[in-house]
Amino acid sequence: MNKTLILVVEDDAPVSHLITTTLKTHDYKYIVAADGEGAIMQASSHNPDIVLLDLGLPDIDGVEVIKKIRTWSNMPIIVISARSEDTDKIEALDSGADDYLTKPFSVEELLARLRVIQRRLAVMNADTAGSVFINGALKIDFAAGCAYLGEKELHLTPSEYKLLCLMAKNVGKVLTHTYITQKIWGTSRENDVASLRVFMATLRKKIECEPESPQYIQTHIGIGYRMLKV
Ligand code: CA
Repeated sequence: MNKTLILVVEDDAPVSHLITTTLKTHDYKYIVAADGEGAIMQASSHNPDIVLLDLGLPDIDGVEVIKKIRTWSNMPIIVISARSEDTDKIEALDSGADDYLTKPFSVEELLARLRVIQRRLAVMNADTAGSVFINGALKIDFAAGCAYLGEKELHLTPSEYKLLCLMAKNVGKVLTHTYITQKIWGTSRENDVASLRVFMATLRKKIECEPESPQYIQTHIGIGYRMLKV
């Protein structure tokens, strides 16, 4: 029995119906909202596990809904939008969305994204028990400040280690260039994105068997990076 509660925010009735039918078929519990104010109300009164959010809503913009929810909760938010421009995705992700799907989307894709978030929630819950992160052969001992690949300890520079920990703590989540550079260097200037690329390349050489087709950290061109749960 799937106990995950999903809040579906969508003003387009046929799309809303498609999503809720899919959720019902896969044993998810769900609640719905057809506008932004309703979404904020449902999110605060039901505390859903995951929010599926349309951006073009009749009253307030979806990005405003994300910002509002983020003032009190870290609940995962997946944006489902017809806006396909990178700038729209970046704005939503920078406002605190976890992931995005562009309309038209496939039901399989939606279910896959939900599973990614659910795995991340499971990892986060396990995390509170200990201070060790394990993802495939990759292991980070946060308390000791060490990272391993299999039995081998990785020799990372402080920036590479910070970058790896940031990606690991947000496993499954797309992090924008701006978000990452702010977290690592406390700033976000034009050339920081170039530096980030360099650090990412050297980190990948150390953690990926084939840095050209990375298994752990995925590139979202023009947007950022995401660590996958392998
Ligand atoms: Ca809409």
